[in-house]
Amino acid sequence: MDIALFEKCIKYISQTHEIALIEDLVSSDQLNSKNKFATIMFDDGYKDNIEYAAPILEEYKCKASFYVVTDCIDKNMVTWTHELEHLFQFTNKTELKMDFDFLHSELKVNELKTKAERIAYVSKLKPFLKKVSHTDRSKALKRISDTYNDVELPKLMMSWKDLSELKTAGHYIGSHSVTHAMLGTMTDENEIKNELLVSGNKIKEHLCYFPQTISYPVGSYNETTKRLAKEAGYKIGLAVKQTVYDPNKTDTFEIPRIELYNEPWWKTRLRITNTLENVKSLIGYK
Ligand SMILES: [Zn+2]
Repeated sequence: MDIALFEKCIKYISQTHEIALIEDLVSSDQLNSKNKFATIMFDDGYKDNIEYAAPILEEYKCKASFYVVTDCIDKNMVTWTHELEHLFQFTNKTELKMDFDFLHSELKVNELKTKAERIAYVSKLKPFLKKVSHTDRSKALKRISDTYNDVELPKLMMSWKDLSELKTAGHYIGSHSVTHAMLGTMTDENEIKNELLVSGNKIKEHLCYFPQTISYPVGSYNETTKRLAKEAGYKIGLAVKQTVYDPNKTDTFEIPRIELYNEPWWKTRLRITNTLENVKSLIGYK
């Protein structure tokens, strides 16, 4: 998101809402007051969060929550969704053997000769891979990173020192899993537990607390995810559903969140006020 747009959002939200951490709101009875609350969250743990967003949050005296992918922090490595696009964009290799049975026929290829072909291909592959099982997705991702090994990945993540600074400034750091795995597409419970526990313990090791919150990567979760998250010791599970949280109706393990993008201000404002989805349904927009 453009920095000026981000600032406009924070300014607007702080004028119209009381901003608080979700971690403080869920465990208190503040939500039953008449105030309109908003909570600001960042997923993944990118360096731009501390470089550009944190000073703006400071200026408006807002505290926010940052959900990090612990392997990405440890290795200063972008998330697999980002990596995928980067590899297709920057490789110079023309061969790519994608012959897996689970792929649609249009996604089965042996080569992608030009950069334009590679970019067109990944724009179809990425949404497809979000729908397959964890095992199948892992196979495809491994094949791609093994083949496109000529590309150096960008170093864009925050360090544990950065996270510790955010914590000291009063922000909250929670888990966004170990590998950005789509928890709702995984069948092996031990693998799911691993994503939940190893990431939580890693945060504990560096920041001295087991996080209250797990933000499900790519908004993927199911009943098993929720149960295992509770068993692991989390208190809050964050989904991505474009609606608002009602403490009397919503399960704290599927708290919805409204995503903001780099869009014109009028559209962003409709999202913030939760009217965009209503407008869409009124005009029958899909
Ligand atoms: Zn993410």
